[in-house]
Amino acid sequence: MHRFATEKSILQQLPHPDWDRRGIRVLVKRDDLIDPYVSGNKWRKLKYILQLARRQNQKGILTLGGAFSNHLLATAAACREAGLTSIALVRGDELTAESNQNLHACAELGMALHFLPRPEYDANGMQAQQAIWMQRHPHCLFVPEGGAMPEGLKGCQEIWDEIAEPVHHVFVAQGSTTTSCGLLTGAAASTTVHVVPVLKGFDSRAEMHSLLSSLLGDPSLVNSYLRQVAVHAGHHFGGYAKSTPELLDFIRDCRQRWDLPLDRIYTAKAFHALVDAVENSAEFDGATVLFLHTGGLFNG
Ligand SMILES: *Cc1c(COP(=O)(O)O)cnc(C)c1O
Repeated sequence: MHRFATEKSILQQLPHPDWDRRGIRVLVKRDDLIDPYVSGNKWRKLKYILQLARRQNQKGILTLGGAFSNHLLATAAACREAGLTSIALVRGDELTAESNQNLHACAELGMALHFLPRPEYDANGMQAQQAIWMQRHPHCLFVPEGGAMPEGLKGCQEIWDEIAEPVHHVFVAQGSTTTSCGLLTGAAASTTVHVVPVLKGFDSRAEMHSLLSSLLGDPSLVNSYLRQVAVHAGHHFGGYAKSTPELLDFIRDCRQRWDLPLDRIYTAKAFHALVDAVENSAEFDGATVLFLHTGGLFNG
């Protein structure tokens, strides 16, 4: 079996007296089981990116992210496995590989880390930085934050090939929107894609519109996809990587009740949105509801 085998991602059904009575089936696609480092959506996104790097005869991957980025960790581990070098531009210069377990693991896996002071790491600054670093590493494939490129989406579309039954609703945590856009473009037209942004003030629709437009072009196609999306913006618990005692209790309950591990940054917030929605709307009666477990447990 390949190290990052998607066969490890089982479908787990969650029993619950009230949901059962209402005929609601809640299924969890356990992509967190694919690998401890290259977990969940990160392997889905990297699979075709690595193939592209090989096809182009690149020596490695140059990418970027925050100090706690699951994308950096996954890229480091996947590149090591594939025999490619990995280089990361890390936002902020206050943390080092010694002070942060995520970066420490990245460095151990052979990733070269370059820290950029925060003022340089805004949208404009990044364009300039990207150009400078690409010049220094001409034999690397550049991968945008979160793997937001066509190959990243393609891997996420494949999740549907592993689910044999009709799904009426799917819930997913959202960062760069790559995973949710991949799920959306691979979904049946009758499936509602519920997205749960983990950043406060994040405009999910605008961000998805921009990524889908850059990949698909056709505005009417983009708009028809977006009509399938429901946004749950009220579940960020204070913002990125913030949490509350309520969220921590929720994580403990899910582990006890279903043996379902959730991370604090992404999956607990998205699953909280699912439970809240199902409990407060008759729209879910009789429906099959899928939760995509996107992983994140190393940092979560
Ligand atoms: C990266 C990540 C996400 C966000 O995925 P995007 O494709 O960037 O939207 C969600 N959940 C977990 C656990 C992640 O690590």
